[in-house]
Amino acid sequence: MRVSVVGVGYVGLVAAACLAEGGNHVVCVDNDRKKIDDLKKGKIPIYEPGLTEIVQHNEAAGRLIFTTDLEEGVKNSLVIFLAVGTPPAKDGSADISAALGVAEAVAEAMDGYRIVVTKSTVPVGTHRKVIEVMADKTEHPFDYVSNPEFLKEGSAVDDFMKPDRVIIGTTNPAVMEIMKQLYAPFMRKSSRILFMDPASAEMAKYVANTMLAARISFMNEISGLCEKFGADIESVRAGVGSDLRIGNAFLFAGVGYGGSCFPKDVQALIQMGDQQGCPMSIAKSVQQANYTQQDRFAQRILDYFGDRAGTTTLAVWGLAFKARTDDIRESPAIRCIKKFLDAGMKIKAYDPEAIRAAETELNGRIETAANSYDVLDGADALVVFTEWQEFRTPDFELIGQKLKQPVIFDGRNLYDPNYVKKQGIEYHSIGRGS
Ligand code: NAD
Repeated sequence: MRVSVVGVGYVGLVAAACLAEGGNHVVCVDNDRKKIDDLKKGKIPIYEPGLTEIVQHNEAAGRLIFTTDLEEGVKNSLVIFLAVGTPPAKDGSADISAALGVAEAVAEAMDGYRIVVTKSTVPVGTHRKVIEVMADKTEHPFDYVSNPEFLKEGSAVDDFMKPDRVIIGTTNPAVMEIMKQLYAPFMRKSSRILFMDPASAEMAKYVANTMLAARISFMNEISGLCEKFGADIESVRAGVGSDLRIGNAFLFAGVGYGGSCFPKDVQALIQMGDQQGCPMSIAKSVQQANYTQQDRFAQRILDYFGDRAGTTTLAVWGLAFKARTDDIRESPAIRCIKKFLDAGMKIKAYDPEAIRAAETELNGRIETAANSYDVLDGADALVVFTEWQEFRTPDFELIGQKLKQPVIFDGRNLYDPNYVKKQGIEYHSIGRGS
């Protein structure tokens, strides 16, 4: 099938590459000229495991092309995916202006029937707005599908290729059939396509993200109570997660959730509820508990150093909001580091993929190194923010030697407290009584 994807960021580029891998001819359109020029040269603008290989392979096979010319995409495609960003607006609602602008431009470029599919996360009711703005600009017939994306950064290619489910929001049987064909390569074992009306599809995305965020926030809140009672959140997690009705996923306590999705989608759901006079009190608590958790972790470190903050250097491991991504959007590490810097602390940070983005975000106020051990030299403590695999079994002896003071603050509970203490290192983690 001939398709185009407008907006080639984390979602759009993965979707485009995977659809090309499925045998489709895909035109990738983005208004960021540098990004498109880089992609044409084979340079992948984001870190996502497995993505480089399938982009390069499909580009070489002529199934994936990159352009800034939307018209080229529209003229050559039956199905047009919108995967542009929907960042939070000032009032916390999702800003859908890019999606609406692209929908309008698509309508203007249409020379016949097209199917427009929204992959971006958009507030419930957006389907009506898209249809309205498109109908204003074209005489040609079109159909609209809401197809929210559920991939996770860090395993996005795998998630797209082997999805738990694909939600297709349309009530038109002919369009259902086309979408089924498009997703058929990813449904070899069994069909996991769920058809529903567009409003329900839009809503399902917000509910899924808020539900997952709620699990994390709940466990984070419980971690604080564990610390008060001397209980161990990791034992509590095992005890709770082994209940099949609950399951183990998304129960890890830590420094809080971040990223480009959970914070903004929880906020947008709150905003939708307020607008409709149907307050989302649970979502509000989920959001509040998340900020409290991040601030509690930062405060613990600030309290530990107290008056010495101005002469303290912290070594930081991890800047990305989670492992296997270079994404620092709403990263707890960035929020906490800003607090440390404001208190006069010096930061030496390492992350396998996110250093460049963090340096830009923090206006060069941090020192960075290309190696996790180099940041330890002369630092007063090590603070772990991201659960990168390479941080999981470090050389504690070397850490102890390099740090001025052998102390670790672990925001991801990566280590066994007894083992670390036996190495002569003072260890503070989340919800484990210390
Ligand atoms: P992103 O910022 O990485 O990518 C968006 C892309 O759209 C950028 O390359 C940008 O240049 C391009 N763009 C913006 N306006 C444009 C325009 N007018 N014309 C052409 N291109 C334009 O964003 P993302 O993380 O890929 O997220 C995209 C959407 O998918 C959001 O709604 C997000 O909530 C949703 N989503 C994201 C994830 C995730 O893990 N990142 C997962 C599921 C859903």
